[in-house]
Amino acid sequence: MSNYRIDTNCIHAGYHPENGEPRVLPIVQSTTYKYETAKNMGQLFDLEVPGFFYTRLANPTLDAVEQKIAAMEGGVGAMLTSSGQAASLISIFNICRAGGHVVCSSAIYGGTFNLFYKTMAEMGIEFTFISPESTEEEIHQAFKENTRCVFAETLANPSLVVTDLELFAKAAHAHGVPLIVDNTFPTPINCRPFEFGADIVIHSTTKYMDGHAVQVGGVIVDSGKFDWTNGKFPEFTEPDESYHGVVYTERFGNAAYIVKARTHLMRDLGAQAAPQNAFLLNLGLETLALRMERHCSNALTVAKYLQQHDKVAWVNYPGLESSKYHRLAQKYMPNGSCGVVSFGVKGGRDAAVTFMEGLKLASIVTHVADLRTCVLHPASTTHRQLSDEQLVEAGVSPDLVRFSVGIEHPQDILDDLAQALQRV
Ligand code: PLP
Repeated sequence: MSNYRIDTNCIHAGYHPENGEPRVLPIVQSTTYKYETAKNMGQLFDLEVPGFFYTRLANPTLDAVEQKIAAMEGGVGAMLTSSGQAASLISIFNICRAGGHVVCSSAIYGGTFNLFYKTMAEMGIEFTFISPESTEEEIHQAFKENTRCVFAETLANPSLVVTDLELFAKAAHAHGVPLIVDNTFPTPINCRPFEFGADIVIHSTTKYMDGHAVQVGGVIVDSGKFDWTNGKFPEFTEPDESYHGVVYTERFGNAAYIVKARTHLMRDLGAQAAPQNAFLLNLGLETLALRMERHCSNALTVAKYLQQHDKVAWVNYPGLESSKYHRLAQKYMPNGSCGVVSFGVKGGRDAAVTFMEGLKLASIVTHVADLRTCVLHPASTTHRQLSDEQLVEAGVSPDLVRFSVGIEHPQDILDDLAQALQRV
């Protein structure tokens, strides 16, 4: 399947029914799987043979969707998780335990920031947040002896900062550690971070990948390219006693990272996706290429409209030539970035609220990256825990309105914007 283009992989990768089997990916709603002998079952537990034995670790519906996403990103394997948050946590925790350190871009989703800054810090993992616009020298300065990885978002939510992936990957590799990238906003349709040096990709599949707002989910994808035998990662090269001494790099080669994420962390943390959710996600993936095209063209139309509106203070959309991230967006996502446009209404916070409450077609929701146009004021919702200083570091000004452009007819979205802005 991997020779097909990504549009085709969105539909066909991961599931290949045999003669007489269901054409549509079935939901295997079973926690458990039957085996003829205890020996058979024991081999599965010891990771000696592949197969399903308990849905916390693997399930045929999840497996098909994981293979599809791995093909779309160009990776060697993937693992679905119960949420994007779980994907962020596991992607780092798989290689960084108490006493470890992570270099992280400060332009990240507010929930991810809380996870890192509070919860993972309480677990003994230290984070150094750096500007996404850091020079190579500045990135190098953030590293410590115990740095285990670098983390960034391809296209940050909601600041729409475009990360210079090649620069971040180069710095990470110079220190012998991988670059983990949250690729939720562009999706692999618009950007495939492995092609620019990223080693691990994660997503909140709750967003565009699903696109219909019907399930919360996440995924971790392994490029298979990082060398875990470089001496810095004994968890891959020394025996894991909890699996009768398995050495991940010896047994699983270039899939060591993603196998360990499953057999070690999914086994112990249990943040697995539900088969029903994987089925719903798969339906979303089937139309992802089509939807992203429309999201991007609608968003550009909206951004251009807002840019010339006299009640709008500023507009940020990487597709606009006026955006300071336009050059990087052209390099990393030349076919379009995403459907999210951020802007400020003249009059600040109060004007933003009046505008939002005047919208009729677009609804005020916490969600983003949905096929229905939706809107949010991050400073008073998703990012409300952040101090003013942290808001600035995350690229979220108090007047920032996050407008997530859907796939409705563009003129209906413009008409809605026009009447809501008139109220301000
Ligand atoms: N990463 C990004 C870029 C997000 O926008 C979000 C949620 O908005 C997450 C991760 C967390 O994902 P979830 O809400 O599925 O846990």
